[in-house]
Amino acid sequence: MSAKKLLRGAIALFAAAALVVGCAQTPAAKSGQFKPGTYTSAAKGMGGDVKVSVTFTANEIAEVKVLEQNETPGVGDVAVEKLPPMIVEGQTLNVDGVAGASISSAAILAAVADCVKQAGGDVAALKAKKAAAATAKAADVTETADVVVIGSGGAGLSAAVSASQGGASVIVIEKMPKVGGNTIISGAAYNTSDPERQKNTPAAAGPESTVMKLIDAAPAGDLHKEMQAQLKSEYAAYKASGSTSLFDSPTLHALQTFEGGDRVGNLVLIKNYTSKTLAGLKWLESMDMKFKDDCFTVLGALWQRSHKPIKPLGTGYIETLMSYVTSHKIPVMLETKAEKLIMKDGRVVGVEAKGPTGNKVTVYAKKGVVMATGGFGKNVEMRQKYNDQWKTLDASIPSTNHPGATGDGIIMGQAVNADLVGMNYIQLLPMGEPGSGSLAGNIEQGVEDRIFVNKQGKRFIAEDARRDVMTQGLYKQTDAYMWVVLDKHSYPTGSTKNNFNETIDELVAAGRAFKADTLAELAAKIKVDPANLEMAVAEFNKAVDAKGGDPFGRTLFSHRIDTPPFYAGARVPTVHHTMGGLKVNVDCQVIDTKNVVIPGLYAGGEVTGGLHGSNRLGGNALPDTVVNGRIAGASAAAAK
Ligand code: ADP
Repeated sequence: MSAKKLLRGAIALFAAAALVVGCAQTPAAKSGQFKPGTYTSAAKGMGGDVKVSVTFTANEIAEVKVLEQNETPGVGDVAVEKLPPMIVEGQTLNVDGVAGASISSAAILAAVADCVKQAGGDVAALKAKKAAAATAKAADVTETADVVVIGSGGAGLSAAVSASQGGASVIVIEKMPKVGGNTIISGAAYNTSDPERQKNTPAAAGPESTVMKLIDAAPAGDLHKEMQAQLKSEYAAYKASGSTSLFDSPTLHALQTFEGGDRVGNLVLIKNYTSKTLAGLKWLESMDMKFKDDCFTVLGALWQRSHKPIKPLGTGYIETLMSYVTSHKIPVMLETKAEKLIMKDGRVVGVEAKGPTGNKVTVYAKKGVVMATGGFGKNVEMRQKYNDQWKTLDASIPSTNHPGATGDGIIMGQAVNADLVGMNYIQLLPMGEPGSGSLAGNIEQGVEDRIFVNKQGKRFIAEDARRDVMTQGLYKQTDAYMWVVLDKHSYPTGSTKNNFNETIDELVAAGRAFKADTLAELAAKIKVDPANLEMAVAEFNKAVDAKGGDPFGRTLFSHRIDTPPFYAGARVPTVHHTMGGLKVNVDCQVIDTKNVVIPGLYAGGEVTGGLHGSNRLGGNALPDTVVNGRIAGASAAAAK
């Protein structure tokens, strides 16, 4: 919890505690619904207890305050902002939770209900009561802009900013009650080769065999052959320079992306993308976004080129882009769900949408519409329809995604004959929190310093492998359940945070991670065979010392796991990213089933297909949204 939140909470709690004493002395109002006063209560949210205070007059809920909370930034805290006024305005406990923040919403409602009980109110009646002023259906709306962007995740907001920078007027429509999509709850790693930052990364972090394999592989075509020759000469120049820093280049990034997706991806798109990731990063920095000075390897990234934002999760991207959007007065229409593209003479000229009260919203685009609606990880029907890689992707398989990831843009695109590519490639991570499937609670910091063990305490896979390979490996283990095991190198102090803004102490206190001074003690806590766990760690440490010779073929190492405290956190398979989607060209124009550009329609980010092939490398999604969202916005703004 941030110091600010704590402080705010502490002050409010102090005031509330004083008032509760007052309440106890307040005689019950005979004719009123409530015993007037202020009451406090708490209920468990995503990030621990959500504490509220509720002030009652004899017949009214006068005020609801959230005193203390540590809900997911940009997600749960939307419920914290929205629900209290809804309860007061409606004088009811019958309010809809905020979509995407159901756990936080439920916590607030439960704590408020408890306050109602303390005040002698009728909880059941308030739960049944319709809001005092039911929202009337608003009038239909018609708007026009040069560029209309559908979706406000990383791709949509990048498109909005770049279209505006290109001189276009822009309107963004977003179906959820908040901006950010999957981007804001992502691990947020951004892959790019980056000579300045990678100066700090030792050459040892990237094995030569990886580069040589890419150079020597049988070429898939002329462009591939050309890029292999390019990589060969870049690598020779690097060797000749005597550099002791890690080798990297857009060509290496491109060939790893191509091979890491089984050569299914479109190399033209890949080359264009990796040649622009660094410019994309600098573009964000030019808008004041801050990244850490060192690069790391995020899960499944295969190389130490992942950049970590200073702000938690994906909040840095969304705040940065939104600050441009707000200061340039670009309208963002929330709770406005795009349903249909409007065609005129073979061109996309606008969008029909449903507004917050069910009213019709029509937005015309003079230059173009950018589709940036993200993937379909939360659409079980679509997962089942297209999946041919996994045994099942039915509702029993959880997802890291926000509830709005339902593939709407793919369906709207299909209705205007857009071609789809790679729809069968659906990425699972071995990194879901048991139960929710969320990435939250994941204790790994980077690939190098942690191992995975199964319920027997044994390693089973190279933990630096591709995401699909690791998940397939996990499915072969008992209950498809594993433990991430690491030590003090990852958490120098108890207040060190993971990638999801949670400190290790908080995770341990909540029973979401386990801590011990010895491996045997850790094994006892997580109920795995101590001899197996000790052996797994010893075998890993041997490979770290030798920088190779790992029985599972792992090549990325940094520290031994040998310094207490030791930690373990459980993980299961979870649906994360859908690689397939709308077919696009390098200008992010959408292509139809006859391989012809659909005039007026552009797309970027997870709604598109063709970039990541069969498997997206970890850390390649954020730059996809930034680079291709930016291209889509610029192309639309430049349209005649
Ligand atoms: P990307 O990473 O490609 O930017 P995100 O998941 O971060 O994808 O963002 C996609 C955004 O699009 C989400 O905020 C989602 O709610 C929004 N969205 C999805 N479908 C629609 C729709 N039909 N109308 C408006 N917004 C939509």
